[in-house]
Amino acid sequence: MFYCTVCKIETDYEYDIALSNGQYLHYSCVLMLQMQKHEIETALRIQKSQFTLSLFVPTDGAQQDIASETEIKDLRTKLAKLESILDELYDHLPCWPPDWEERKRLLIRDNGSICSHCDEEEDVYLVHDIPIFEGGTNELDNLTLICAECYRSMYREVDIFGTSTLKSSQSEFSEQFSAIQSAIDNDQKIQFDYKKPSNKRWTTRVVVPERLLNIPNSRESGETLCVEGFCELRQDTRVFALERMQDLEVIED
Ligand SMILES: [Zn+2]
Ligand SMILES: [Zn+2]
Repeated sequence: MFYCTVCKIETDYEYDIALSNGQYLHYSCVLMLQMQKHEIETALRIQKSQFTLSLFVPTDGAQQDIASETEIKDLRTKLAKLESILDELYDHLPCWPPDWEERKRLLIRDNGSICSHCDEEEDVYLVHDIPIFEGGTNELDNLTLICAECYRSMYREVDIFGTSTLKSSQSEFSEQFSAIQSAIDNDQKIQFDYKKPSNKRWTTRVVVPERLLNIPNSRESGETLCVEGFCELRQDTRVFALERMQDLEVIED
């Protein structure tokens, strides 16, 4: 029996998260902590703006809306506690943590925007030293900044995500998969409409596909089938999830 490290209640096989430190976690519990953190941050922000406002706008005794110093101190203490709990959970999530960009910012602050492989000052990616699927964690000392050039050559060496066969669970992508594969084999370009969850609109992309990848995700499927290639719109190598594509076609030059 496995128990959630947050609420100590039994975890349900289908909905739990196995953390890399051997503990278990409910999805709902991490969501609850995130919501609590968000609520406190909002409360603090409101207090701050009300306080600032009160300095400029004379109020006739309407001071009761402003929290006392002790109340604000309490909120800050609670927030720090929540942040450290979440930080520790994120350290051991079996996927990229929600605060990935923040982790990258911290490393850049300490080391500069410098590639750990070639020591050049470049735009850098954040990667794991020991990959998650080999037991690596998201702790800062397992994270490295690396430039696009070294990132690409490293990924070619460690071809562990690369895939030339389709898993049975991915059969819905079989048509796209074989179209992309044949485009790679024949040095052809592909064109498709693409939409990230964060974007409202579809954009049409023309991509020189280089390889198909399975990238770990935190969902039940465990992996997202992607294609890596040179995107003509962004003028850079990008990774595209097949599930976010539509109207894929192989195009002649
Ligand atoms: Zn729980
Ligand atoms: Zn480099």
